[in-house]
Amino acid sequence: MSESSAAAAEAVAARFEELYGSAPDGVWAAPGRVNLIGEHTDYNDGFVMPFALPHTAVAAVSRRDDGVLRLHSADVEGPVVELTVDGLTPGSDRRWTAYPAGVVWALREAGHAVTGADVHLASTVPAGAGLSSSAALEVVVALALNDLFGLGLRGWQLARLSQRAENVYVGAPVGIMDQTASACCEAGHALFLDTRDLSQRQIPFDLAAEGMRLLVVDTQVKHSHSEGEYGKRREGCEKGAALLGVDALRDVPYDDLDAALARLGEDEEVRRLVRHVVTEDHRVEQVVSLLESGDTRAVGPLLVEGHTSLRDDFRVSCPELDLVVDTAVTAGALGARMTGGGFGGSAIVLAEETDVPAITKALEEAFASAGFKTPRVFEAVPSAGARRVR
Ligand code: ADP
Ligand code: MG
Repeated sequence: MSESSAAAAEAVAARFEELYGSAPDGVWAAPGRVNLIGEHTDYNDGFVMPFALPHTAVAAVSRRDDGVLRLHSADVEGPVVELTVDGLTPGSDRRWTAYPAGVVWALREAGHAVTGADVHLASTVPAGAGLSSSAALEVVVALALNDLFGLGLRGWQLARLSQRAENVYVGAPVGIMDQTASACCEAGHALFLDTRDLSQRQIPFDLAAEGMRLLVVDTQVKHSHSEGEYGKRREGCEKGAALLGVDALRDVPYDDLDAALARLGEDEEVRRLVRHVVTEDHRVEQVVSLLESGDTRAVGPLLVEGHTSLRDDFRVSCPELDLVVDTAVTAGALGARMTGGGFGGSAIVLAEETDVPAITKALEEAFASAGFKTPRVFEAVPSAGARRVR
């Protein structure tokens, strides 16, 4: 454990003791993530390839056996929120507490005897930046309860239950990628995940060892129409699958793409969505084989191809994200693309270490002259998934 994460665990444990009057049973951490490649493929049963950020949600937790659930976040103003495990009702809570409470609800719904807990948490994952602060929150609580109640659940099972918490209790129709990344990633690796059967493979992705860096550029914008647009894309993909007679677009082989597009006839909207999903799944497979053969630099152009596809075919980019990609590539980046659902949020930039200062400067200048808010740029080191830290 790094010095800073040991200090974070210490601080969260100390605050827990102030709030609840005794030391926590333990402290756990779960990271946010970025997706290297494989965007809008998860609800098409396809491939994704996230890696974990060094940024984590850290939770100090004690078990209780009296049915009481107490929740507190260092990052939200307000007193401890007290609930009862029997009273947890999906859709009843619009606050941040729905995420951890939803996990308790999902565990109990699945038959696990979780009889209460005291929780205090703090997170360094920026919220709402497309870096999955919500999954970090869910997974850290799921892992803590798994340990404290001896549930014996594996990472992918905790991810499934956390997804259920977010889908049903919080009411957000998210895929399985974020929670799986937070629960299962390993340091120095990206996670190749098949969202159909949840099979996964750790793919070496140790950029520092090869003189490269991956930057996350948080545009700090969120265009408000994003949820409705997300729903439309999902429906369009389902329509495409139905027209092609497959369960999901994942079942359209890349080699048959032209024939499939021809069969879609005049429906240009659906054709574009299908083309993105099928080529994107193919790009994930290409990135996997490049990384496994040690050809990391060759990943760059595939990131740009993926961005172009998201911009022109899937149409989920925005001027700020396009500006990151164009500026970074012009300034010498190996590749760049938007990451996450789109319409704002973050982009990633793959670059030689020596080019990072020039790229960062170019981004700042380009955003200033476009009149956009200054983006937050930080380096993302592929880091460990959820773990107990104390
Ligand atoms: P993302 O997961 O992309 O960051 P979401 O909208 O899915 O964005 O999740 C953000 C929400 O998660 C916040 O609005 C808040 O309710 C909750 N959240 C994230 N981090 C914290 C935190 N440190 N403390 C309390 N709630 C948090
Ligand atoms: Mg989220």
